[in-house]
Amino acid sequence: MRLNVRRLFRGRAGEGGEGNKRFAREEIFCSNSVVPPLRKLLPKILIFDVDGVLVDVRRSYWLSGLETMRFLTGKRVGWAELHQWKSKPGNNDDWMMVSNWATALGRPTSYEEARDAFAQFYWGKDGKVGNVRKERILVTPRQMERWGRRFELNLFTGRTRQEFSYSFERWPGVRYFREIVTMDDVKRKKPYPDGLLKILGERDPSWALYVGDNIDDALAARDARVPFMAILPTGAHAYRKHAKRFRELGALALLPRISALNARLSSG
Ligand SMILES: [Mg+2]
Repeated sequence: MRLNVRRLFRGRAGEGGEGNKRFAREEIFCSNSVVPPLRKLLPKILIFDVDGVLVDVRRSYWLSGLETMRFLTGKRVGWAELHQWKSKPGNNDDWMMVSNWATALGRPTSYEEARDAFAQFYWGKDGKVGNVRKERILVTPRQMERWGRRFELNLFTGRTRQEFSYSFERWPGVRYFREIVTMDDVKRKKPYPDGLLKILGERDPSWALYVGDNIDDALAARDARVPFMAILPTGAHAYRKHAKRFRELGALALLPRISALNARLSSG
């Protein structure tokens, strides 16, 4: 089979002053089929969400949410319900999700009460470390270094500064980030775009790319006019529904995991 590969590289973002120059396109023609072009980007600024993107939090935050719900309501709520509640706007914040969910189940719960109940499962109690110990960072410091050579790297997370520091202060990859915006650094958290705007300052939003995994990330990116890609694992709960919603909100790509980002970043 004859394979003819044509690449169209249009230069790096900002160099020509036009936003659309950040796009590069790759077209592959085969003798008997046409493979749809893989859309690639040439951002200058990468902004990452943390949980579900750089860290696997299924056994830490998500399990803590489930355990907090059982503790507050006495009901045996399960993973399918957790995913449903997690995908509603405003519920990227687990304390808010627990507050909304418990209240809907007939157990009125304030944000502060949800936060305090959640802490005993996430941080632990009676001298025992909680689910926070089950967190796993999904990228290597080497990968961060490679990205750091090509892009300006930033974080915009719904974590508190304390939660972020606990998991990342000893991780060598953290030194490659220019700015780390936590819940404590903005007045309005996600889905508001404040964290993205803080990172960008006066710069053109189209120079950046935000990678997140929650509907609130997509909403924040849309409102900041920052191009967005969503992490959505192939086996994720209600995959098609989430994929559709992310696409409606303008996601440029759905990535099964953060390492798949490399295939979407142009080498040009
Ligand atoms: Mg997240």
